Amino acid sequence: MRIHQPSQMVRVKMPIDLKGFDSRDIERWVLECGFPAYRGRQIHSWLFRRLAGSYEDMSDLPKSLRSFLSREATMNHMIPVDHLRSKDGTEKFLFELVDGCRIESVLIPERDHWTLCISSQVGCAMGCRFCLTGKQGFRRNLSTAEIVDQVIQIRRSMESPERLTNVVLMGMGEPLANYENVVKALHILVSEAGMNFSHRKITLSTSGLVPEIRKLGRDTTVNLAISLNAADDDTRNKLMPVNRRYPIDELLNACRAFPLPNRRMITFEYILIDGINDRKQHSLLLAGLLRGLRAKVNLIPLNPHEGSVFSPPPMERILAFQEQLIDRHLTAIIRKSKGQDILAACGQLSGKYHP
Ligand code: SAH
Ligand code: SF4
Repeated sequence: MRIHQPSQMVRVKMPIDLKGFDSRDIERWVLECGFPAYRGRQIHSWLFRRLAGSYEDMSDLPKSLRSFLSREATMNHMIPVDHLRSKDGTEKFLFELVDGCRIESVLIPERDHWTLCISSQVGCAMGCRFCLTGKQGFRRNLSTAEIVDQVIQIRRSMESPERLTNVVLMGMGEPLANYENVVKALHILVSEAGMNFSHRKITLSTSGLVPEIRKLGRDTTVNLAISLNAADDDTRNKLMPVNRRYPIDELLNACRAFPLPNRRMITFEYILIDGINDRKQHSLLLAGLLRGLRAKVNLIPLNPHEGSVFSPPPMERILAFQEQLIDRHLTAIIRKSKGQDILAACGQLSGKYHP
């Protein structure tokens, strides 16, 4: 049998990772390598459905194919190097990537299921002033395989993997700044032959990259969350530099144009920061801004981190803010951040060891 080297192997020195391939890619690659297409379907099912930990586990593949795979396409590029459990049941996983970079993923217990919060970049270039990931700056984009592998490895480590039903792209990084890899990963997550998540249970959160929001609406049907955090351009410019490129008006126009299947809503995340965006005038502005949009608001009291110049408002102001929105017929939920004691809450991910 003649075995062809796939073209990708010639260009890229790094061994390929099949976890970044959808079912069609795997079939094509397997064929190119001289094996029948149905072997590709078997490999695909082992990787994404049966969560195989090694090629050795793929017991219905011939030995020759298994050793070919071990040579040409290494598995488990990312190594879990730390695992912390919070008092409230939240778990944080630290992974080391092939180049030594580190990322974090957070598994959050809900009443009847688990939600996994995954990263899309190492660091982040957006520079939001309240966010620890933003403070670190940008290292690099994650590959599709690295995004999907967070879900595979964590699901595999769970006692009841079927209870992991929800995925949010709210970890490290701005997912829409890594558009191609993220969208491919989303396709793998929702593909029926693949990980089979419901697209209704996947949410992508963005700081507001307008052209990519418009594209996302055409390319996927996952839920959209917008990190709004301020209802006027002056305040938002100060908190989130991205607002100078795409001011609130443009951002909300893109939200209005975002295709929403029946009964779906866009989530607007609003971090409440003491003395900055937490007064009555801000809640009135916010309610006015979102009028007519199919919107719900998640109010997140700021999670402070070391060196942070901001702090969360007192509880009575948070409750008053929520009430103002509800009085104006908006759905507004206060999200108590989970996992604060292990620095796993929103805006606290740094990819560092926390001994
Ligand atoms: N980059 C994307 C997704 C990752 S950030 C985005 O910005 O939407 C995930 C969420 O954490 C965002 O909603 C962001 O507003 C929030 N966040 C960042 N820093 C925070 C902090 N210090 N306290 C509370 N939430 C924070
Ligand atoms: Fe990046 Fe999101 Fe943090 Fe802003 S809030 S710096 S976009 S990760």
